[in-house]
Amino acid sequence: MRALGLISGGWDGEIAAAMVRAAGWEVLGLHLDHGFVRDDRAAEARRPRGFPVEVRGVAREFLAEVVRRPRHGYGSAMNPCIDCRIFMLRRAAALAEERGVGLVFTGEVLGQTRMSQRRESLLRIEAESGLSGRLLRPLSARFLEPTRAEAGGAIDRERLGAIHGRGRREQARLSAGLGLPPPRARGGPCCLLADRAFAARLRDLLAHSPEDGPPPPALALLRRGRHFRLSHRAKAVVARDEEECRLLRERHADLPSCQAEDGRGPVVLLEGDPDETAVRSAAALALRFGAHRGDAAAPVRIVGLGPGEGRIVAAPASAARLEPI
Ligand code: SF4
Repeated sequence: MRALGLISGGWDGEIAAAMVRAAGWEVLGLHLDHGFVRDDRAAEARRPRGFPVEVRGVAREFLAEVVRRPRHGYGSAMNPCIDCRIFMLRRAAALAEERGVGLVFTGEVLGQTRMSQRRESLLRIEAESGLSGRLLRPLSARFLEPTRAEAGGAIDRERLGAIHGRGRREQARLSAGLGLPPPRARGGPCCLLADRAFAARLRDLLAHSPEDGPPPPALALLRRGRHFRLSHRAKAVVARDEEECRLLRERHADLPSCQAEDGRGPVVLLEGDPDETAVRSAAALALRFGAHRGDAAAPVRIVGLGPGEGRIVAAPASAARLEPI
């Protein structure tokens, strides 16, 4: 009577876990950090709850095996949801085997997303993850084939859910019945790969990275700022507000940066291997996105580029300059 649940930090997974626990099962959670999980979901998955959640990092394998070459294609952006579910559940199956756990469950809901939660997709994911007969989706269980646990009477199928589609009313009812608090994380896709703007940045980074993938800090940087491709080897990342200025400075202190000398503008990070032209372009962006837009040339402070660093005078980047980069 032990079950292993995939915990992504979303509401459906929480409800699924509560349903399995309410049926008398001991639950162990597994959160796989594939490197693109939304910040709020990652925090939610890691918070303490009434059962243990094991967190494992799988970013490198996920990028190489799933994101770059999905066998079942992408969703609306760069989200390989079917391959992602198979990848996650294969790892869940391995952990279940290791711990002698016979049942694996997820918060998937039949028909909730067009790609990975259609009936054929759910069946394919179950088969390809090696969990046939052992994968329970408690929220939609009564619309799906019974698992061995249901068939054998170890879990009462009549007390499982019959939810279909995108509505949240039934989840709210179940959640209240189980005494759960309202959802903490926002709704929507569970990771950044489903965000078109993020996907465009990732495609650009992969196109300008070696075959074995970009370094982890370059991937982490995709979450913040406005990104400008200055050359094959260099990129500028412009902070969008004060909080981002602080985060870029703190979390990427090893990267060169520039900022208007009078402080009236954003921090701009230089990533890769910037040459003199790239540094000048970054300085022009620092002025463009600060209080100098359209003004005459102004001094920009450069930090972290070694000998010769310090200060250059640049003109703010024009709208025409922004378009190609
Ligand atoms: S949105 Fe992201 S984490 Fe969620 S199933 Fe799709 S690829 Fe996986």
